[in-house]
Amino acid sequence: MKKNILGILLLFFGWAQNTNASIVNVRIFTTTIINTFIFSPLGGTYNIYGDGVLLADCDPSGIFQMSVEGDSIRLKTFEKNIGKFVSIKMIAKEPLSAFKIKSVLPKSKVRTYDDDLEITLTPDKSQFLLINKVDLEDYIAGVVQSEAGKNVGLEYYKLQAILCRTYLLAHLGRHMMEGYEVCDDVHCQAYLSRTSEETIVKAVLDTKGLVVVDNDLNLITAAFHSNCGGETCNSQDVWAMPTTYLKSVKDTFCIHKSQAHWQRIITTEDWKSYLRLKRKYSISDTLKFANATSFSQSKGRAIYFTEKNIRIPLKTIRADFKLKSTYFSIRQVGDSVIFDGRGYGHGVGLCQEGAMNMSKLKYSYKDILHFYYKDVNLVDLSALNYFKQE
Ligand SMILES: [Zn+2]
Ligand SMILES: [Zn+2]
Repeated sequence: MKKNILGILLLFFGWAQNTNASIVNVRIFTTTIINTFIFSPLGGTYNIYGDGVLLADCDPSGIFQMSVEGDSIRLKTFEKNIGKFVSIKMIAKEPLSAFKIKSVLPKSKVRTYDDDLEITLTPDKSQFLLINKVDLEDYIAGVVQSEAGKNVGLEYYKLQAILCRTYLLAHLGRHMMEGYEVCDDVHCQAYLSRTSEETIVKAVLDTKGLVVVDNDLNLITAAFHSNCGGETCNSQDVWAMPTTYLKSVKDTFCIHKSQAHWQRIITTEDWKSYLRLKRKYSISDTLKFANATSFSQSKGRAIYFTEKNIRIPLKTIRADFKLKSTYFSIRQVGDSVIFDGRGYGHGVGLCQEGAMNMSKLKYSYKDILHFYYKDVNLVDLSALNYFKQE
């Protein structure tokens, strides 16, 4: 039993030792194709290297511009053209340094990040590959803000920090072949900037190194979503992945929140055309299902839309109509078909709006954790020495 956690901890420890600190390599602006951007320190001084050679240092009054030019990177200041390079590194000279970055082509808002920035081009040389080499806990703070928003409350932020840290450590290396560890998109976890919100910084510090493991001491899949609509989903019902901890729970904490209810109206004709297109889901040869315009989940979540002789996975309907969730009922009114929906997101694991409400009602982050994830344990990664002696 102890072998799994020992493996995790050794992996973490080895990874931390190799890099001298717990540094994460995060690709930023993953989904934006940038041609030109500007860099400027927000605090601290940065050494600027071009192809490994120290070119300059830069304090917060300095601004550098970089553009894709042919198969290399053009580096300039407002006064002068510095040169063309294959790689440029912005390395902080002091701890707690941070920088600003703004895409000029295409235009974007200013984003801010902690620690270092490495700039190269993608293998096809078509766009920048921007890697933020950032302290793990600073990264977690940025993810917590991106995933949970501002002004939520300390207890909730603690839990979100633990889940984001667990998710990171369980998914490290998924982009290894592309030259970094995680991206800044929801594919890994949203990481849109550093945080300067003190409550988030405190929550991350207070939970430093804590992660969640299952009863076999494996890091859990720390799934979360915006609002479950009153009932979360079993992981196997959504992803065909059974787990001991992602189990459906009834949740009354989220049902009065903004995302708890939604409605979508389409024409009956569009619905019938859709069903005709989905012939492959018919469970007999006839097309009786063409009039299937009523369906209810009022007694709890279902996995399939089942009406007349058709059986379509709800997640297929959700994707096809870009619905907020699979938790909906259908009724016909005149020439329209109305989807009465509940919740927002896949419905597996932690319901963010329910958890935020629990924290307002003074539940501790541990209570909230055990409400949404069954049979899980909090483990401190700093317990490494204990496990090493086992
Ligand atoms: Zn990713
Ligand atoms: Zn909920």
